[in-house]
Amino acid sequence: MLQPEVREAFFRGCKDVDEAKACLEDPQALLGYMDRAGVDRFVLINYESPEVMGFTSETNDWILDYCKAAPDRLLPCVGPHPKFHDDLGAETQRLVDLGARMFKIHGPHMLVQPNAYQDDYPQLADMYRVLSETGIPVMFHTGTSIFRSARIKYGDPVTLDDVGCDFPDLKVIIAHGGRPLWTDEAWFLLRWFPNFYLDLSGIPPKRILQWFPRVAQIADRTMFGTDWPSPGIPPVKQNLDAVRALDLPAEAIEEIVSGTALRVFPPR
Ligand SMILES: [Zn+2]
Repeated sequence: MLQPEVREAFFRGCKDVDEAKACLEDPQALLGYMDRAGVDRFVLINYESPEVMGFTSETNDWILDYCKAAPDRLLPCVGPHPKFHDDLGAETQRLVDLGARMFKIHGPHMLVQPNAYQDDYPQLADMYRVLSETGIPVMFHTGTSIFRSARIKYGDPVTLDDVGCDFPDLKVIIAHGGRPLWTDEAWFLLRWFPNFYLDLSGIPPKRILQWFPRVAQIADRTMFGTDWPSPGIPPVKQNLDAVRALDLPAEAIEEIVSGTALRVFPPR
């Protein structure tokens, strides 16, 4: 589905491109990659972004189908775009019933603000209501994006303040901690809202303690992630080893690489 220039940038920047391509074709290849990296479970992130990336509505059902190969290890994340679903509440419920474990709003790629239920997309509130009731988390991309037609104004985490105030039961995952422009904003929100979680994907491990020096205080709401196979992302094992080697208490590392995710995505 990828638009030609996105495809080019995507695979040019991927550091283990042959493995990534094999995994896209076949979940068994991905399970082997996970075994070699020492990873039990992956959340596989997909969302509709026809204009910027090329992902159509088919992407949601595609990943639900892909993950059937190993539902205990492959957790599907979907991202219905409010523009293409007038009854977004019903679509959200349909995807939850089919096994979606996480939803993603990628603002810079969907051209949607997380708080757009206040103006452009009132139906977004229906999605947040269904997710609040079912306990399924929603991840918001925060920070920049390297793709040419992405708009980073949609990546400013300050709009999540509205979401936290208006949907206090919603589990919100702040992807990439607002890096590199808004890590202070992200930190404030994480401290303020007890249902907010920090995702470390896309943050170079050596930057984690620079941008989040007190991350150990919220280790029980912080999750390891890689963003693999996005451009510039090292192979998963390399990334995991670097996070395990951070100068943090052993209990905090354990929460970050395992404990938090087990609570947010309890085994079924
Ligand atoms: Zn993202």
